[in-house]
Amino acid sequence: MSINFKQSVKCPKCGELHDMTVWSSITVDDSADLKELLLKREINIFRCSSCETSALLPSPLLYHDKDKKLMISFTPCYDKLEKLQLFDNIKKSSKDSGELKSLEDYNLRFVSTYDELLEKILIFDNGLHDKVIECLKVLILTQEPEKAEHRVCVFGKCDDKELEFLIKDNKEGQFYTSKIPMSSYETIKEQLRLSGVKYRSFDWEIIDIDYGSSLLRGVNNNF
Ligand SMILES: [Zn+2]
Repeated sequence: MSINFKQSVKCPKCGELHDMTVWSSITVDDSADLKELLLKREINIFRCSSCETSALLPSPLLYHDKDKKLMISFTPCYDKLEKLQLFDNIKKSSKDSGELKSLEDYNLRFVSTYDELLEKILIFDNGLHDKVIECLKVLILTQEPEKAEHRVCVFGKCDDKELEFLIKDNKEGQFYTSKIPMSSYETIKEQLRLSGVKYRSFDWEIIDIDYGSSLLRGVNNNF
């Protein structure tokens, strides 16, 4: 069930008060309209009608897609240590409540930015798995290792034949695209599976590019 509450939010720029509907939970099967709004970045985003300032509210949001057995816990956070603390809290409360037992076969993700949340939804909506995607990102970025430090790679789109990634170079201020054949995706997915990677979660997981890097280091012999 999707859950919201009303909150009065003060514009950080001009100080005007706005009454907002804040969503703390979105379940896709009974709220397809809310998912659409989320993908358009219209959920939990404050927009001031007086001065047009916009900002993401610091409220946590749980995204639940029963069909895809996907649950994403999103808490906006920009500090690495704080992020790990939030992640630990979620793992602990999920364990204490016994909730994990009812989420067998699920993929459980913790993310701390809106971009990550939307990317995860896009990846699973396309029938892909983020553990493979994060490894592909590492392989793409390490093609030019001297530039990898200031580049960010995100999943863009896919069809039957290939996957497209977007690369943003923060130093050059440029965007690039990189295409990977679907056959390579399938090969890597199988190699990871053979090396012990599970395509479901036994607990909440952070699956990001650091995860991809450590996975590739761990199964290096297979590549
Ligand atoms: Zn304002």
